[in-house]
Amino acid sequence: KVSIFWFRRDLRIEDNHGLFQALSASEPVLPLFIFDTNILDRLPSKKDGRVEFIHQAITQLNEAIGGHLCVKHGNPLAVFKDLMTKWDIVRIYTNHDYERYGLDRDASISELAQEKGVEFRTFKDQVIFEKDEVLSGAGTPYTVFTPYSRKWKALLAETSLPNFLSSESTNYVSDTFILPSLADIGFQPSGLLFPQASVADELIRAYAQDRDFPAKPGTSRLSVHLRFGTLSIRSLVRQAIGKSEVWLNELIWRDFYFNILHHFPHISEKHSFRKEYDRMNWRNNEEEFKAWCEGKTGYPIVDAGMRELNATGFMHNRVRMIVASFLVKHLLIDWRWGEAYFAEKLLDFDFAANNGGWQWASGSGCDAAPYFRVFNPTLQTQKFDQSLVYIKKWVPELQELSYPAPIVNHELARARVLAAYKEALGK
Ligand code: FAD
Repeated sequence: KVSIFWFRRDLRIEDNHGLFQALSASEPVLPLFIFDTNILDRLPSKKDGRVEFIHQAITQLNEAIGGHLCVKHGNPLAVFKDLMTKWDIVRIYTNHDYERYGLDRDASISELAQEKGVEFRTFKDQVIFEKDEVLSGAGTPYTVFTPYSRKWKALLAETSLPNFLSSESTNYVSDTFILPSLADIGFQPSGLLFPQASVADELIRAYAQDRDFPAKPGTSRLSVHLRFGTLSIRSLVRQAIGKSEVWLNELIWRDFYFNILHHFPHISEKHSFRKEYDRMNWRNNEEEFKAWCEGKTGYPIVDAGMRELNATGFMHNRVRMIVASFLVKHLLIDWRWGEAYFAEKLLDFDFAANNGGWQWASGSGCDAAPYFRVFNPTLQTQKFDQSLVYIKKWVPELQELSYPAPIVNHELARARVLAAYKEALGK
């Protein structure tokens, strides 16, 4: 008799709630990771950096648990059916997923488990508070960040954050498995560099003053680790407390967007959070979209951001806001196009945060920038990259004739987008 612990967005042993629960029971644990073909087959590039990141993470995980990690490549339902024929499985343990696909997948595995008399147990691990844990006094979900974060902090003060220690446990099934190579699952190295999985206390302390300047190493770069759970959110909240309220707030924004996704699932169906924004009449010019994607708009800060994204799989948050605003407001291109492009390119792509960021920029989101706020790329540059250090890194040809002329005039674009929003919203 064995239990299975199924790793997904929690690729670590330290402080992993579901794994801890599995190891605390009496049955030995078969640790499992599935390269899910439903997801992998849809990726446009065989050099996807996220697949490589996951592959590296599970290689380390496998070493950490003495070579016991069972790695499969296929459709999860078929993988579980197969495992059930080979093992006498008592229970399947895993951590909660909040995305549409993950919820459907888990429902199908849970159904299969029920049919076979196997218990399917899931745990909260990816966030500090989930589902209905942070509600207003009236029992409704928050849609504005500040009161949400106030309640979140009050709840945290009442709770002691658990640290699920299981690194000493050896209660694993003792078969050995062969870890497939990246090539075995049909992928190739991306050539991208992955950030380290730790942040210095000094960076957290200086975060409030440095975070908006893309030329400075002022943010943690931990997003990809939070995305795949190579770090525990609880460990980072513990580290943030007492050092930086501003950085703690960023971690709370992450919880906030998961909370929005849970309570307002229509955002997973390509709808605006505020449905009246779906009446927008976008221009959706394909050539301009291509220029934006390639970093050839003639606006240096926008181009630098897009080139950073294309070259590294990362973009600084301030610049994400600028390029998103530019696409939606200057070019009047549907925010969903930008959302999809980021989803393809960002190493830290996360549906809830990405959708939240894009709907923030387009004004259609919960606690969003108002529709009439149009970032001026020139002023943003003066404020946040005054010496052009960031821009010159990514747009070295800035002073030369080869650099494109602006694709659109700021003042004209501003007037055009305001008229479009007013028409859509009936203002
Ligand atoms: P830090 O500034 O050090 O923040 C620490 C952590 O807090 C981050 O790693 C992240 O997990 C979380 N965080 C910070 N800001 C936000 C935020 N606004 N919303 C949610 N979580 C946040 N973040 C993603 O993780 N995945 C995405 O797909 C994503 N898409 C975005 C799209 C747009 C248009 C915008 C404007 C923002 C997006 N963000 C996304 C949020 C933010 O830009 C990144 O989390 C941040 O830049 C990551 O860098 P860092 O790890 O150095 O963050």
